[in-house]
Amino acid sequence: MDKDKQIQKIQIRSIEKLGKKSDLAMRGLRALGFVKDKKHFTIIYPCQFCGRLINYALTPCIFCGNYPKSGREGVIAYLLSSNGLEFDDLMKISKAIKDKFDLELLISNFRELIDEILKNKRGQPEYKLLFRMVEDSINNKERQRVVGLEYVKRSHIVCDRCGQEITGADLPCIHCFSQQQGVEKPFPPNNLSITEKWIVATNNLLLFTENHLSNTDNVEGLEELIFVSVYIINRLIEKNELPDDNLKSLWRDLFRKTKSFYTHFGGEIAKGSIRIENDKIKIEALESCTGEEEFTIMAFGHNLSYLLKS
Ligand SMILES: [Zn+2]
Ligand SMILES: [Zn+2]
Repeated sequence: MDKDKQIQKIQIRSIEKLGKKSDLAMRGLRALGFVKDKKHFTIIYPCQFCGRLINYALTPCIFCGNYPKSGREGVIAYLLSSNGLEFDDLMKISKAIKDKFDLELLISNFRELIDEILKNKRGQPEYKLLFRMVEDSINNKERQRVVGLEYVKRSHIVCDRCGQEITGADLPCIHCFSQQQGVEKPFPPNNLSITEKWIVATNNLLLFTENHLSNTDNVEGLEELIFVSVYIINRLIEKNELPDDNLKSLWRDLFRKTKSFYTHFGGEIAKGSIRIENDKIKIEALESCTGEEEFTIMAFGHNLSYLLKS
């Protein structure tokens, strides 16, 4: 594909922008998809079905279990990658998918790009692997469905007492806890394995960033932290593989570099922040926060603290 045929910048104002970019011009020159992203730890994609950030676009999504079932969906998956999109736009597209926007209307040249690739799929050797993988998925729908269901089960970790989703890696289930207030005996901790705790914590980190993050002190650190976190949660869910010491220390270094996470919860002023100071997590929530917002900040701080000491 020609270098100038990149996805044009998204012009939707209702989608929040995530911090400033220092190297916009350089990134803008990157061709869509064919220039390997050497800058980042891995390639990430927003899932075209649920909007969550994932590591593989053609296999079942670890959060919703859906996967491309046609040539067109395969091309969409392929176009929406960190290879061809700036991080800002990736986050905006993730939000837009969650908000059910039509991407072909939102991204001005998107339909044209998809049609062009579909039209030239036989002429372009670069697309062979892409279409072969989509075809393999279409021919093995039952296998993909089962794999997808298994992933969804593993990414949504629930309490074995009440069946509701667990939001804090190392806390008792908040739903059971709120039912049991006033009971004398100490409340038992959750029964999660280390792998499950890691899944809860990294999932919470990604969800907070996708849904609530409005600013940070270090955008470059944050971007890379997201890339590494997406990589870690995919390994945890697909391979039951905990990060090794090198990966953990890379994650911690990026977290320390990122320093802070601010959220406005859609309002004018920052309502809460999580900062790291002397390797301790400082959580702040303004009085104007609703109970739910305060809980969101507290759970995020707890999960970051769990990952930092793990
Ligand atoms: Zn998904
Ligand atoms: Zn429970």
